[in-house]
Amino acid sequence: MSNYQCEACGKYKKADVSKIGVGDKVNFVITTQPSSQTMRISSKDGEVMEVDGDVLTIKVKRGGTYKQRRQDVTPEGAPGALTYAMFGHCNCGEETKA
Ligand SMILES: [Zn+2]
Repeated sequence: MSNYQCEACGKYKKADVSKIGVGDKVNFVITTQPSSQTMRISSKDGEVMEVDGDVLTIKVKRGGTYKQRRQDVTPEGAPGALTYAMFGHCNCGEETKA
């Protein structure tokens, strides 16, 4: 796998989300809270239908559309959003990233 994993800290490097546009496949996580005791995290895959500044309208395969902020999604091919949610992301390379 991946050149997304940081050799220094073992966390995952943030994918470049600035290039995400209409028609791109993305992955994101939604958190629902069915009750005050439980929290459910689910990972979704979808296709970007519309871009409005930093808000993406994403059509999910199994139906439904979601609006997500650009920084909350990951492009297809990058580690899933759930991976970041679980492992956190690397900040080591921030200053070297082009
Ligand atoms: Zn790192």
